[in-house]
Amino acid sequence: MEEKIVTRFAPSPTGYLHIGGLRTALYSYLYARKNNGNFLLRIEDTDLKRNSKEATEAIIEAFKWCGLDYDGEITYQSERFEIYKKYIQKLLDEDKAYYCYMSKEELEELRNKQEAAKERPKYDGRYRDFKGTPPQGIEPVVRIKAPQNGEICFLDGIKGEVKFKVEDILDDFIIARSDGTPTYNFTVVIDDALMGVSDVIRGDDHLSNTPKQIILYEALGFKIPKFYHVAMIHGEDGKKLSKRHGATDVMEYKAMGILPQALLNFLVRLGWSHGDDEIFSLEDLKKLFDPNHINKSASCYNFKKLEWLNAHYIKTLPFEEINHQLKELGFDLSIYKKAEFLLDLLRERAKTLLEIIGGAKSIIEEPKSYDEQAVNKFVNEKNLFLLKKYAEELSNHRTSSDFESFTNEFLQKNDVKLKDLAQPIRIALTGNAVSPSIFEVLEFLGVDECKKRIENFLKFRRK
Ligand code: GLU
Repeated sequence: MEEKIVTRFAPSPTGYLHIGGLRTALYSYLYARKNNGNFLLRIEDTDLKRNSKEATEAIIEAFKWCGLDYDGEITYQSERFEIYKKYIQKLLDEDKAYYCYMSKEELEELRNKQEAAKERPKYDGRYRDFKGTPPQGIEPVVRIKAPQNGEICFLDGIKGEVKFKVEDILDDFIIARSDGTPTYNFTVVIDDALMGVSDVIRGDDHLSNTPKQIILYEALGFKIPKFYHVAMIHGEDGKKLSKRHGATDVMEYKAMGILPQALLNFLVRLGWSHGDDEIFSLEDLKKLFDPNHINKSASCYNFKKLEWLNAHYIKTLPFEEINHQLKELGFDLSIYKKAEFLLDLLRERAKTLLEIIGGAKSIIEEPKSYDEQAVNKFVNEKNLFLLKKYAEELSNHRTSSDFESFTNEFLQKNDVKLKDLAQPIRIALTGNAVSPSIFEVLEFLGVDECKKRIENFLKFRRK
């Protein structure tokens, strides 16, 4: 029987959900879904000083917004100390780990010596085989008996064969601190093993942890999962992505009016490709995604591309989905008459949901003021006179559509061009000179409302 694919996302709740984190979460999610496996969420909240409940909630909220569903309950490491203790004891009992009574001063002395000799700082193993009476007044740490020479090799699904020379990177590292709390590498291994994780997909900033984790898997007799270390996202200047390059918090994208569909599509392509295709729905990806095709090299963040994808999804997603996302931003378009018609007007050129909201409001709400620059530029005595006439004649247009032919007839009769009248109408109806097709705005508002707005504008001009 083939092994069930189990992946996980294991954030440490120290702040918000970073888009780099969301990308590895997405890769893990897709791989599990593609193989009818499980995708698990584990909150790595053992560092009680740096972790917070708010940060955990922020991560879960961001996950929800993106629509990535995980299987089963969330695992919280902070609830698993007893389990970690049990396994630390097991390693001690099997003589695979040991208590180290080195004092802070001794450790510092060792570090200084190594530094002076230009050696890599590493523990010298002085308590590895210690059998004597423990020194008084020292709460010991627990260290793993790591191999002292040779190589640690593994086959990474992205990087290929990865080799570490034990001498270069390892020592008997700490698995439990003097207060008994387990260290990061230890908890990750215990949990990945007990949760049955078959494939670990994570950022390559964790690559140097992997040999340590492999040693722990071996010591504990657990099966080693397959690793995929994903290269970082860089900014356009080739440096590691930071706030200087753009937003890094997933929820900032929500606030900017980016759709989760666009953000996920954008992130999946940062580091993975399928031919020259650019547009991928989550459903497509669940069929196509393969972590073995993730790029080896770092990918480059490009906000314009995200905007382009966002515009695509704004144009193509069903009304209900767009409205659901608008509601997330506090604006429910569906309460208005002809809401779908209005969305269709706006979505042709909107790059973000904020533009949709702004555009919708400027059409739905009667203008309270008029863009002064636009008025000065586009409105003059001649077209004000025409506008007045246009409003009067609108009463004769009694069908609810085809404002285009009506307007063209009017223009012909008065021997003027559309460009002489379109902007004044637009300003009168919406308060500014940018709006979707004027005929459709007319149709959306209807004759009576249009007349009222034009008359109000004329009154305002006379003041
Ligand atoms: N908790 C770690 C982090 O947030 C991830 C651990 C892992 O993926 O192995 O960076």
